[in-house]
Amino acid sequence: QAKKLGKNRYYCFDENLNEQLQRRMTLEIDLEKAISENQLFLVFQPIHCLNSGNIDKFEALLRWKHPRLGMISPNEFITIAEDTGQINKIGKWVLRKACKETKKLQQNGLNGIGVAVNVSSRQLESSFITIVEEILEKTGLEAKYLELEITESIMQNIDTSVRMIQNFHELGVKIAIDDFGTGYSSLFLLRDLPIDTIKIDKAFIDEINDIKSQSIVKTIIDIGMNLDLRVVAEGIEHDWQKEALNDLQCDFGQGYFFSKPIPSDEIIMNWNRVF
Ligand code: C2E
Ligand code: MG
Ligand code: MG
Ligand code: MG
Repeated sequence: QAKKLGKNRYYCFDENLNEQLQRRMTLEIDLEKAISENQLFLVFQPIHCLNSGNIDKFEALLRWKHPRLGMISPNEFITIAEDTGQINKIGKWVLRKACKETKKLQQNGLNGIGVAVNVSSRQLESSFITIVEEILEKTGLEAKYLELEITESIMQNIDTSVRMIQNFHELGVKIAIDDFGTGYSSLFLLRDLPIDTIKIDKAFIDEINDIKSQSIVKTIIDIGMNLDLRVVAEGIEHDWQKEALNDLQCDFGQGYFFSKPIPSDEIIMNWNRVF
């Protein structure tokens, strides 16, 4: 009996692994034509000033509507794109689209609104700065309205990344550290790089009522104040989280409590309705 069970289990595991590999391969292949077949699009989530409630900027988030499998999470397909190198082409598309749509927002009443774009460390290769310059020029978006969100994973290739980020700083493009506190050596980044913003990971905001998480969040906010950085709390879902962050004097926040990420057309529609 035991032997039979064991065998079955092994069989199940094998099938599962096979399925996972299949899916990965399918996504990898289909991702190749996702851009040309218009399956990719961006949604935008507002980042609010917690004091005034005003929208400070939007974070652009990538979406993939697969023709057969439906919506695929960026957590799944970005990882694949990073492994295969497809992220360079996709990342370029994201940047161009994000800058273009933000320019359009600015022209439709959202004067001075900025955009934050996620960038994988794999994109930080030498040609990237030229690409960004070109996109800014072509879309007419001023550099100061663009913020690039990087993660602590850039530590893996720290020399290239440091140079790159200094170049962006000179261009006037802003830099944020995303998912702050979940990676490693983040304090080195704050010391050695011209960073503008740190984004406290949702994991800490989820547990903001827990005494330890609260101390960590408070400490990050203090570091931000002392180093003259903007601090954004990610993943605010409830009023009590916003209140707690206000008490801790956190400047900015983002999350479903304010809004889910939405297409830029919808932002323009809502904006014109309110004002
Ligand atoms: P991220 O940059 O940390 O983005 C925040 C994620 O949290 C987004 O998930 C957003 O939709 C989600 N979120 C925001 N507020 C809430 C909330 O209140 N509750 C919950 N449960 N979730 C919230 P999304 O859009 O699925 O993106 C996941 C990750 O995929 C991003 O994490 C980012 O690392 C990556 N990603 C997304 N778009 C791009 C892109 O264009 N390029 C690159 N390189 N990575 C991207
Ligand atoms: Mg982000
Ligand atoms: Mg994040
Ligand atoms: Mg993330």
